[in-house]
Amino acid sequence: MYYVSMPYKFTFDLSKVSRFFFTEIAKISYQKGLAEKAGRTAQKLIKQFRIQEATGLNVSDAVVLLQDLIEMQARNLLERERFVHTKKRALFLPHCSRKYMDSRCKAVFDSNIPSYVCAHCSPDCSVNRAVSAAEKKGYDVFILPGGSCIPKILKAKNYEGIVGVACGEEIRMSGETLGELGVAGQAVPLIKNGCANTTFSVETLLNTL
Ligand code: SF4
Ligand code: SF4
Repeated sequence: MYYVSMPYKFTFDLSKVSRFFFTEIAKISYQKGLAEKAGRTAQKLIKQFRIQEATGLNVSDAVVLLQDLIEMQARNLLERERFVHTKKRALFLPHCSRKYMDSRCKAVFDSNIPSYVCAHCSPDCSVNRAVSAAEKKGYDVFILPGGSCIPKILKAKNYEGIVGVACGEEIRMSGETLGELGVAGQAVPLIKNGCANTTFSVETLLNTL
């Protein structure tokens, strides 16, 4: 078992926030001159969707989180065209989104890859649903204990496109690795972090694959 440090110094849970919030983030990501505006836009959205009340985050942490989400979406858009033309693809899932983090999860960890291999023990496990859907589409799937495994996997296999689910900072770091290797990436953010029992939108992932 690997241990990873938690990139954000705060925990968040956006799973109860209105879905219009995410539509709004997607819309904003299309706009030009994002960098200067992202801070102000984040402040506005935080007020509009009452993010502090809904999540208990203080305003500066909420701004960091939203800026990351907006930037992630903008990068997805930039890379989308290149990504859709890739053939050899993989999906990276975070181990923290498994339904269980203890022995009730029947996934076996293979340190040679390194990845967990899902045993499909729980039909309502998001990782299980993601693995099945992605494999059906021809993806190789990895359930990673941390972003540090990514360079090893990318060097061993010559993937052209990667879909990655993770929290914002993990995605930023992995994005840099993909960029250096010329691999096209698409990111799906965790909407609840904390390194255990985390959540992502399976629907968003299915649309991305
Ligand atoms: S379905 Fe797979 S990932 Fe989810 S708890 Fe079971 S073995 Fe673990
Ligand atoms: S992806 Fe999960 S385990 Fe990794 S740092 Fe983010 S919340 Fe923690």
